[in-house]
Amino acid sequence: MENRINFQKKFQIEVENIKKSSKKATLLFHVCCGPCFTIPYELLKDYFDITIIYNNSNIYPKQEHDRRLAELKTYLSEIGANIKIIETNYDNDTYNLDLEPRKDDKEGHERCRICFNKRLKEGFGYAAKHQFDYFGTVMTISRYKNAQDINKIGEKLQKEYPTVKWLYADFKKNDGYEKSLIIIKEHEMYFQEYCGCKYSYEAYQKKLESK
Ligand code: SF4
Repeated sequence: MENRINFQKKFQIEVENIKKSSKKATLLFHVCCGPCFTIPYELLKDYFDITIIYNNSNIYPKQEHDRRLAELKTYLSEIGANIKIIETNYDNDTYNLDLEPRKDDKEGHERCRICFNKRLKEGFGYAAKHQFDYFGTVMTISRYKNAQDINKIGEKLQKEYPTVKWLYADFKKNDGYEKSLIIIKEHEMYFQEYCGCKYSYEAYQKKLESK
C-alpha cells in the first residue's frame, strides 16, 4: 500500500521556519479559481508575499476560464487583498495536445497528472525566472485532486528549478475544504460543477443528460 505523506504537516514546518525569519518569503502561487484560493489565502497571508499566477489553459471553454478569473478578482477585491495576478496566454487547443491521448481517463488518473505537471512546470519556470523564494498551488484543497500526486510532481520539478522551493501543502486537511465552503457561501461565489478541461466538461454534460 502507498505510504501516504501528510503534506500539510510539511507546510506547517515550512511556515515555522519562515516565522523565525524577520521577513515574509516571496511566493508565486498557482490559482485556478476564487473558491479554491479562500482557505489557502488565510493560511499564507501572514508569512508570504503572494503573487498569483493564473495559467489555466486547461479550462474549457474560454468563457469558463474568464469567469473563474473574474470571480477570483472579485473575491480579492471583496477581502481587500492587493495581490498581483500574472495572467498567461490562454491556448486550450495546444494544451489539449498532451491531454488528448488520455481523454478517456477518469478524473484523478494519468490525464490529471499530465495536467498538473504542465501547469506546475510553467509556474516553476516563471518563479525561477523572476527569483521567487517559493512556488505552490491551491489545487490540493480539492477533494478530487490527489495531494500525493501534486506534491510528488512539485518535488520532482523543484529539482529542475533548484533556486525555487516547492511549497508542500495539502490544504484540504484540517477541514480546509469544509471551511472553504463556508466562505464560498458567505461571498456568494460562483463555484464550478466540473474540474476544468474539455473532457471533464463533457463527462459533466453526460451526467446531466442521464438525470
Ligand atoms: S479533470 Fe481537471 S486536473 Fe484532470 S485533466 Fe481535466 S482539468 Fe486537468
